[in-house]
Amino acid sequence: MDYQQILEDIYKEILPFAKKGSQADYIPALAKVNPDQFGMCLETVSGEVYHFMQSDTRFSIQSITKVFALAMCLSLKGEDVWKRVGKEPSGTAFNSLVQLEVEKGIPRNPFINAGAIVIADILLSELEDAESEFIGFVRSLCGNDEIDYNEEVAQSERQCGYLNAAIANLLKYYGTIENDIEKVLMFYFKMCSVEMSCRELAKAFMAFTNRQPFDYAGYKLSTSRIKRLNAVMQTCGFYDEAGEFSYLVGLPGKSGVGGGIVAIYPMRYSVAVWSPRLNSKGNSIMGMKALELLTTATQESIF
Ligand code: GLU
Repeated sequence: MDYQQILEDIYKEILPFAKKGSQADYIPALAKVNPDQFGMCLETVSGEVYHFMQSDTRFSIQSITKVFALAMCLSLKGEDVWKRVGKEPSGTAFNSLVQLEVEKGIPRNPFINAGAIVIADILLSELEDAESEFIGFVRSLCGNDEIDYNEEVAQSERQCGYLNAAIANLLKYYGTIENDIEKVLMFYFKMCSVEMSCRELAKAFMAFTNRQPFDYAGYKLSTSRIKRLNAVMQTCGFYDEAGEFSYLVGLPGKSGVGGGIVAIYPMRYSVAVWSPRLNSKGNSIMGMKALELLTTATQESIF
């Protein structure tokens, strides 16, 4: 398969979408990002790397971080994680409060904000220094110690994070989080602020692609747990657009409001794409289109 040629052809085809949508601006630091950027990287399980355009530019991974947080949590707590958070698609926006109230403080899944805030709380309770453990795990996944939090993005989100603060307060009211609200929110925002490039993300997600039991920085997942993590990505990775992503792309994956998307073709490749302009659901327009064209051109999707 000539993946390099496919990536280059895809880019030509998605150019008509280049000015559609706009970048997330509810986090002031993200509003400053130049929206007209695009990068893509595909890494195969045998270690071949194909990349195109700004695949080495780091960006704010935002909700993609929730996959790393869940992986750590599954390693620490196993199936007990599911006592605190569900694993059903939400069908609501990533930051919705409505469902959380109706369902009495148990978030639908770990990839909507409410669920990820609970995961942040679990990590804070389990670990003495959750911030350094988390970044250590991510660094170990991609074998790169330069990966880091962006303090400015985290602080900027904290200053305007009224909705996430409301979610955390509701969770605390229902007794779903144990730690101090401020501490949990700040750790959640820090995890979202991590910056990585498409090449680094494709590499990090290889751990969830090749189905080998893993041990990164002491966090272990069995093949069976990796399979389940993929299942949650498939059903819950794209907020209220998880069905659309399954339909158009047909791969498990996770998006973030920084414009990044990572997807996995199990046992074959991981692919990361980034372009900051988002659709109304918070997913990258060029990113989704690129992945749709990739699985159409390669005929490689799980369906
Ligand atoms: N930090 C973002 C928020 O909580 C993450 C959302 C996302 O990437 O979907 O709003």
